Amino acid sequence: MNHDLRFTSEKIAKRIALIRPLIHRARHPLPEFDFEELTDAMAKPGSGTPRGTVAWDSYWAGQDTHFVLRSRFDVPQNYANPALYLPLGVAGDIFTHPEALLHIDGQALASADRHHQLIPLDRALADGAEHALMLHGWTGLTGWPPDPRNPARLQIRPCHVVDVDRGLRDFVVLAEVALDVATTLDPSDRLRDRTLQALDAAFVTLDTRDPLGDAFRASVPGAHEALKSALAEIGPPDAETLHAVGHAHMDIAYLWPVDQIRQKNARTSSNVLRLMEQDAEFHFSHSQPQLYDYTARDFPEIFERIKQRVAEGRWEVMGGMWVESDCNIPGGEALVRQILLGRSYFRDTFGDVETPVLWLPDTFGFPWSLPQLMKLSGLEYFVTNKLNWNQYNRMPSSAMWWQGLDGSRVLAQFLTTPREVQHLPFPTNYKSDLSAAEVIGTVTNATSGPDVSDFLIAYGYGDGGGGPTEELILKARAYAAMPGAPKVQMGRIGPALDAIRDQSARLPVWNDELYLEGHRGTLTSQAWIKRANRLAERAMHDTEAAIVMAWPEGAPQEVRARLTAAWRLICLNQFHDILTGTSIPVVFEDARRDYEQVQAEAKALCQMAFARLAQGDGTSLFNPAPVASSPVAFLPDGTEGQTVEGGSLIATPPLPAYGMAPLAETAPRIPVSITRNGDSFTLENDHVRLTVDQTGTLTGLCHLATGREALGPGETGNQLWAFEDRPISWDAWDIDVFHEDRSERIDAAAEVEIIESGPLRAALRVTRLYRNSRITQEIRLTADSPRVDFVTEIDWAEQHTLLKVAFPVDVHQSRATYEIQWGEIERPTHRNTTWDYARFEVPAQKWADLSEGGFGVALLNDCKYGYDIRENVIRLTLVKSSTSPDPGADQGHHRFTYALLPHTADPALVRAEARRLNDPVIALPGRTTAAPLVSCDADNVVLETLKPAEDGEGFILRLYEADRRRGPVRLAFGRAMQAVTICDLLENELAPVEIEDNGVSLTLKPFEILSLRCRPAVGGGGD
Ligand SMILES: [Zn+2]
Repeated sequence: MNHDLRFTSEKIAKRIALIRPLIHRARHPLPEFDFEELTDAMAKPGSGTPRGTVAWDSYWAGQDTHFVLRSRFDVPQNYANPALYLPLGVAGDIFTHPEALLHIDGQALASADRHHQLIPLDRALADGAEHALMLHGWTGLTGWPPDPRNPARLQIRPCHVVDVDRGLRDFVVLAEVALDVATTLDPSDRLRDRTLQALDAAFVTLDTRDPLGDAFRASVPGAHEALKSALAEIGPPDAETLHAVGHAHMDIAYLWPVDQIRQKNARTSSNVLRLMEQDAEFHFSHSQPQLYDYTARDFPEIFERIKQRVAEGRWEVMGGMWVESDCNIPGGEALVRQILLGRSYFRDTFGDVETPVLWLPDTFGFPWSLPQLMKLSGLEYFVTNKLNWNQYNRMPSSAMWWQGLDGSRVLAQFLTTPREVQHLPFPTNYKSDLSAAEVIGTVTNATSGPDVSDFLIAYGYGDGGGGPTEELILKARAYAAMPGAPKVQMGRIGPALDAIRDQSARLPVWNDELYLEGHRGTLTSQAWIKRANRLAERAMHDTEAAIVMAWPEGAPQEVRARLTAAWRLICLNQFHDILTGTSIPVVFEDARRDYEQVQAEAKALCQMAFARLAQGDGTSLFNPAPVASSPVAFLPDGTEGQTVEGGSLIATPPLPAYGMAPLAETAPRIPVSITRNGDSFTLENDHVRLTVDQTGTLTGLCHLATGREALGPGETGNQLWAFEDRPISWDAWDIDVFHEDRSERIDAAAEVEIIESGPLRAALRVTRLYRNSRITQEIRLTADSPRVDFVTEIDWAEQHTLLKVAFPVDVHQSRATYEIQWGEIERPTHRNTTWDYARFEVPAQKWADLSEGGFGVALLNDCKYGYDIRENVIRLTLVKSSTSPDPGADQGHHRFTYALLPHTADPALVRAEARRLNDPVIALPGRTTAAPLVSCDADNVVLETLKPAEDGEGFILRLYEADRRRGPVRLAFGRAMQAVTICDLLENELAPVEIEDNGVSLTLKPFEILSLRCRPAVGGGGD
């Protein structure tokens, strides 16, 4: 039969549309709802304002409304499969719909939302009695980007108790899947015609002459059997196995605040639990310990039921980090804490059941050091979706080995479920509704080669939760025996990745970072949060080092608990739509409060430690950085030395890394001077000579030791450039390559004045006006340092304007070096290939450097992350100012410092000055006698972290090799040690290290990260 001539597929689609509504065999109306409006997501039902009764078919609520709807229902005795049908309204796109936690007789049971309008009821409720129904929820936002002024309202349709004809429903789902597969297959594929033949035969046996008559329902089982056997006759599904994993992508904050995700997660969890009761084969995989922690606190009964399902192995806990974090901006130790907090929460809460996968489907790029962090914490698999959002280049294989900076290898899987995203060449998705195009496409889209026959699809509604539905589970079942489609197997992520690993021997190796060719603006958007994060990480670093010095044998439990709580807040706000600056305004209001809390806690804990370390009169200095301190220290409110704004500067003997000493004053070796010659200013110390003209422009920077001029011939430095920044699609996320089309140099200064004249620091203040904004910079040079600081304050009132600073330097090099977490990476300074071209804006931590033989120039920063270095021009992105999803992003005050550092191609100096810029000496009251707890004899080894051990036994020293230099290193301890052991990132002890002369000798490989647990000898003092 020629099905094209006979319009078979169109006919079957029409018949399915005819019979689908008949799945509700009978309906029994509900009384209309009483509506209570609540103030916010955390408000309890009963605390709000009554809004009367909601009439059926009325427009009952607009967007962003927190509601309680109450009604009653009874279940007719003759209903075989009763269910609630709750069409509350649909406002628009995927994010905007009402969603509510449904309670029956006070018991939280399920989510009622756009995708879960049908809630099956226990037959026991058909007891003739009336039951209380309560829906507690939120109406969502309207539009993308959300438009708070959009007046659209939700229309509620009549709600019912219905009797579900399960036989008809199962037949309809099977027929829909078969038709979907047939129409997705290539017209030349014989399976297409044979599947249409099977459908045609089945529908001929279905008596649709009177769809409301008994004959119709009586004909359903026969038609269902006919379809099943005809499909079986065609043959088995394809040989490939598609592991279908129930999942819900949960953005912890995005178009909703964190408080809302606490509710969303409870709703999604209750749904999943309900589906697990209905279907023994259904599995669900859920990430982000932060969400579990919220549910444990807010909804303990739901959490207990989750625990049971985890113990049964049907609820898979996975993720590897505290939240699905951004990975470009968090510092090295913060990435460790994401893993440590995440994995230890799961271990402590559920036992040793977490799947060893780092699940970051939606994160915007991944540093080259991540494989090593994974290996050091027992994570074997890496999964993301986002690399397929590259604008130019496709990853060569959808499954591959990812080799890190140090040589560690992990198995990486890039999800392959196809999706349409405007202007992207090969986007994929971390969620699916199991359409044939997505199920078949997940396999055909994969590029993992002929050895791999296992694939992964995450199904369920997401971006704010929802998760799987009963119909999605039925669809997954239908695919288990569907010719023309892969064999779908419901299960967990762990076994799917195990199967891929078993086929991985010949998979290619990717030995580089995983750079995302897109969302480059997230390195800069919402500049304040980048700074708040950097300062919070610094505060915790300094505080933990001080606590270790105060309690080397182990910090008290209360102190450790407070540190953990503060780190959890930092990690929460590193979520991939918070720290990235890509959420709505209310999210950032919450984040500001969180960062204030972290700072207050860090300060209080630091003071507790200082009180143990220094007593009596006087002042001491603490160098919390892992490098020797600058010989010039700032004393807030100080009066000695050179008076500057907010205090004074004094020259003082440099302190070793983590050193502490009573304040002592010295003379600077050679002071800094500033002179004015006509229209030009000269700042000079024994390292550099800097000239600035009357417009505030840097006209020269001579490195005295080499006699080299840092700026290119005829070039000027510290050029501020404004670019029109209007990305095609994702305003806060993207910087598109064409931002360079229109740029403007912010040139003439309104004012240049000398504000500090030495002997310890000289400074010029340059004020520039640009359109509606004011930029004030202090150009500072300090005695005994080659670093030139540009301390910048901006009042920014531009939109869609990207601000960068540029330094054209006199260095010839095809590759520049950038600091990443726990190491560095080289990237090309040219655009030879499309891979190079795509990296026109790249992430870095505290510095980027361009060096040739014997000479280099580094650009350091104290809270910026977006660099680009093309040929000899080093640029740093300072401000972005998008308008969506936050219309006021980056408006108002900015404060940051970047610094230019000429040097003799000396990476240790670059690292050291970047640390001094970020982590200056702290003055504390009292006289200290504390010796540095640990020191190191090699300048290629960074003692990155000193932290109390999580279990209270001693402290952890985490260090890394930073110069790609293999070899021995000796650590000397400032007090007697009883035991030192190598441990993993979760602080499990792996191997003891021999202590000799109160020190240890180690051999490090290039870029190796090493964590040591150190237990001081009891009663062992310093010397
Ligand atoms: Zn997301």
